[in-house]
Amino acid sequence: MNSVQRKVEKIIEPQPVVEGAGVKLKRSIGTGTLDYLDPFLLLDHFKDSKREDYEAGFPRHPHRGIETVTYVLRGFVDHRDSLGNSGSIGPGDVQWMTAGGGIMHEEMPRVTPEGIDGFQLWVNLPAKLKMTKPRYQDIRSSAIPEIAIDGGARVRVITGEVVGVKGPVSEIAADPTYLDVSIPAGSSFTHPISRSHTAFAYVFEGEAWFDRDEATSHTRLVVFGDGDFVKVFTGESPVRFLMVSGKPLKEPIARYGPFVMNTREEIEQTLSDLRSGRFAQGL
Ligand code: FE
Repeated sequence: MNSVQRKVEKIIEPQPVVEGAGVKLKRSIGTGTLDYLDPFLLLDHFKDSKREDYEAGFPRHPHRGIETVTYVLRGFVDHRDSLGNSGSIGPGDVQWMTAGGGIMHEEMPRVTPEGIDGFQLWVNLPAKLKMTKPRYQDIRSSAIPEIAIDGGARVRVITGEVVGVKGPVSEIAADPTYLDVSIPAGSSFTHPISRSHTAFAYVFEGEAWFDRDEATSHTRLVVFGDGDFVKVFTGESPVRFLMVSGKPLKEPIARYGPFVMNTREEIEQTLSDLRSGRFAQGL
């Protein structure tokens, strides 16, 4: 079988959203334009330097049936949860949280002069793991390999594999790849992706050509069609983007705020567990 380059299927402009207790952010998955990019349910980019746009944070709230992935570029997100964990996600750090059957937590951006910049991705769990035991993978920046590729690209591998180097996040049901890719001006980068896996790039600095006549400038979500690899070119500007892919679950979803299950009945059960105090006791 010939190796096929993935073509750009859509380019999406993130929408401004106010979330949590009043945090301004840009959402590119989980909107009317792109409700679900199986297995990815949501992609939020929080980037603010005005404290009033982020300081209210995300006070105590539940999750069930999904994984939430927080990647911070600048500033800190302080967190604590019903498992008894607490800590802080700083520049370059990742928290991959499997909410499973239920977690209650708070995520509060710390007010600092440099503000906050980062991402939260929601990854769906298959039906058989929706009620699994909650767990965390807290990864410090220093534990994330940064690879220098011929041609000048630099890739931080959070999960998945690039030129034989594996990222530290492991055993995730969607078999995801999550990379932070920087390419200098006048260069290119080729990245193989398993056929049939969903793939997107989120361009947050500069611009690049993702197999189109026109360059895609920040800030945009690029959704790829199927194939074996993506190839990215830069012109006069460098580019930096998240490159994410994963295996689609192809299961029905029932979504209600921070809960994503397979059926309406499971959502009703979740709300009933919350009311009766049986949901993730602790925090
Ligand atoms: Fe949360």
